[in-house]
Amino acid sequence: MTLLSLQRLVVIKSMAIVALLALLVAWEAWRPRRAVVEGWGRRLNNLGLIAVSTILVRLIVPMGAVGFAAAWHSGLWHQVAVPPVLQTGVSLVVLDLAIYWQHRAFHFWPLLWRAHRVHHSDIAFDASLGVRFHPFEILPSYAYKLLVVAIFGMAPMDVAIYEASLLGFSLLTHANAVLPASLDRVLRWIVITPDWHRVHHSIHRDEMNANFGNILSIWDRLFGTAREGPRDGHVAMAIGLPEFRAPQAQRFPALLIQPFMSTSVDTAPP
Ligand SMILES: [Zn+2]
Repeated sequence: MTLLSLQRLVVIKSMAIVALLALLVAWEAWRPRRAVVEGWGRRLNNLGLIAVSTILVRLIVPMGAVGFAAAWHSGLWHQVAVPPVLQTGVSLVVLDLAIYWQHRAFHFWPLLWRAHRVHHSDIAFDASLGVRFHPFEILPSYAYKLLVVAIFGMAPMDVAIYEASLLGFSLLTHANAVLPASLDRVLRWIVITPDWHRVHHSIHRDEMNANFGNILSIWDRLFGTAREGPRDGHVAMAIGLPEFRAPQAQRFPALLIQPFMSTSVDTAPP
């Protein structure tokens, strides 16, 4: 993969993500699942957080995961002869499984939880929450992803497909929009839906430690962390963490320093 095609891929991916975000915002305005109580300032804070995280990643790994995959010529796929289509399928499933366990690790280890709780401390649930990740979560996640890519020697295009799908699903599964119940019932057998993932943002600790999946829902079913719905119902359920509900805790500088804050209430790890 040449530098030019890599750059073209980044441009196409960026345009697709902006288009998807615009579509989701329109969908949320047309058919909101829950009452909208938070203004645009909150959305901008969430977008600002991913902007800081992305700039830091680019400074540390300028070539990105796709560029890394293109430059890396070792790993499992270089040792065994597997048809390209099978290799792509296995790579995508392996990456999704790896990210499922990464998410569980972020809930389990106290130090990682301090970074991941910035994502959980949002008191509203919409597409902008899909990119609310602190740099201290993004950076170790990126290193872990590079490790998985290196072990398998994944193809750059497979990494690009997964990265775009993961970001797209993150926006989609946090959408505050109504998906017809019959469609949701069918889709959630295979992939994550907004109603499925909203449970994970419940203020209740047991519900927050469920539905860890990012694209495929099979991992939660397989590893016993699936939960079909919130006990308080999707409209009435409280989103967020009890320790970060004050308006000042949701301001941009407060989000940046949140991993360093010690609190009297601790919602995770279990
Ligand atoms: Zn989580």
